[in-house]
Amino acid sequence: MRRARASSGTPPLPPQAWGGRGGVLRRGERTRAAIFLDRDGTINRSDVRDGVPIPPDGVEQLELLPGVPEALERLRRAGFALVVVTNQPDVARGTRERGAVEAIHAALRRRLPLDAIMCCYHDDPDDCACRKPRPGMLVDAADHLGLSLAVSYLVGDRWRDTEAGRQAGCTTVLLRGPYSGGDQAWADFEATDLGEATDIILRCQEERACEDLRR
Ligand SMILES: [Mg+2]
Ligand SMILES: [Zn+2]
Repeated sequence: MRRARASSGTPPLPPQAWGGRGGVLRRGERTRAAIFLDRDGTINRSDVRDGVPIPPDGVEQLELLPGVPEALERLRRAGFALVVVTNQPDVARGTRERGAVEAIHAALRRRLPLDAIMCCYHDDPDDCACRKPRPGMLVDAADHLGLSLAVSYLVGDRWRDTEAGRQAGCTTVLLRGPYSGGDQAWADFEATDLGEATDIILRCQEERACEDLRR
């Protein structure tokens, strides 16, 4: 795996972005598994206009998809760190205020048991390390939270999501939809929603536990 370079355009995350659990980690503490979650179309509804998914404009338009709180609670109880990784290029394009995006993230943190929200505000011309399909946000979150990427999962609804997960070395689950990217969208597993993705992940964990016992 190639280590993503820090992007000069990305300011360092404030400590509260890590849910108060940040801090310097000692070597060898990278054992915890995470679920990396795409935001729009994976945990909250995104409208589709002209075949393109549109994120909510503000907190008033924010609508969690059915079963999402329950699915995240099951994953949290199974011991996973829950980390949202989201591209929000409309900020770089000047069509959306960064403050509006941050307000949505504050609302998500109030309503869901999330450990961190990683957000890329750039667009393709910025050539940053964080915009999915690059794995920068996953690598940074792993550094800060002491996560093992190899035992982590990514769930998303577009090829950019699953490609970022694949590049980070995670197991990937695609919620396939009309704008996933067709043949370009590849994943280890496919599911219809986060609830089914959770079933798949927890089944994988059981099988991994059995394999560990057999060793
Ligand atoms: Mg999405
Ligand atoms: Zn970025």
